[in-house]
Amino acid sequence: AKESGRNAVAYFETTMQEAVSRRYALEQALREAVNHQAFELFLQSQVDAQGRPIAAEALVRWRHPQEGLIPPASFIPVAEESGLIVPIGEWVLAEACRLIARLNAAGRSLRIAVNMSPRQFHQPNLVRKVQDILAASGADPAYLVLEITENLLVEHTSEAVARMTELATLGLRFSIDDFGTGYSSLAYLKRLPVSELKIDKSFVKDLPQDLNDVALVETILAMASHLGFEVVAEGVETAAQFEFLRHLGCERFQGYHFHRPEPLTTWLARLAP
Ligand code: C2E
Ligand code: CA
Ligand code: CA
Ligand code: CA
Repeated sequence: AKESGRNAVAYFETTMQEAVSRRYALEQALREAVNHQAFELFLQSQVDAQGRPIAAEALVRWRHPQEGLIPPASFIPVAEESGLIVPIGEWVLAEACRLIARLNAAGRSLRIAVNMSPRQFHQPNLVRKVQDILAASGADPAYLVLEITENLLVEHTSEAVARMTELATLGLRFSIDDFGTGYSSLAYLKRLPVSELKIDKSFVKDLPQDLNDVALVETILAMASHLGFEVVAEGVETAAQFEFLRHLGCERFQGYHFHRPEPLTTWLARLAP
């Protein structure tokens, strides 16, 4: 037993070391990717109750020389921890703004939503950066949506509110991502320049069978409508979920049932009349 205990410790140390060096290698590779802008922008359309596109969410992928396209779940956490999310997020924002300018020029009025990580949101020069990126692209800020999570607001309240207000003054909009998974109340959000809530896909997944989810989504939609928030339901995968959400008064939808995230060129080609 003593022997196996020692082996277990040795094994644990080895796997710890492996994890640390893997983490380090990942961060180095990601740093390289940032230097070479080795990312790709995917877009997932959001649709209205008739299935017509009204907006799209920008979703980043890492174009890895050996591994191919790497999904954000595999590198966003390391990017966030290392601070690399700041240049990555700025690249995404700049790409999204260029897309908005392009859509504006083509007479299309679709909003583009960009995910903003807590680390990026709390950068001291964020407002200036966003302003510069908007100006350089020539995008109309009215078409830019920044998706932030509730927890970002709970942590640094007064500073976060001041920052949001400044950004909203530029003319862009805020959406609360993964709504329902955090701790903020709708009454609190109403005091902020927030125009939209995205109901987290975990509450959509089991509709219409799960009665707890039914009650929750029903309440969110009723209160949101009362308080004047737009609502997007995310992760809509089936016709049954779509019908049910529509029946509850939801007017905006995002999910595999309608469109998957697509490379920018594919998305643009499909959009063309
Ligand atoms: P998110 O912001 O909640 O984005 C929605 C995720 O749900 C996307 O995953 C999308 O592909 C996926 N999704 C869309 N429709 C469905 C559906 O019907 N069913 C299911 N099960 N999933 C669906 P993706 O692209 O892998 O992104 C994962 C997360 O990575 C995002 O979650 C977001 O938190 C983060 N992320 C992506 N791009 C960026 C970025 O540019 N910056 C930052 N900070 N985070 C990003
Ligand atoms: Ca999002
Ligand atoms: Ca989400
Ligand atoms: Ca559930």
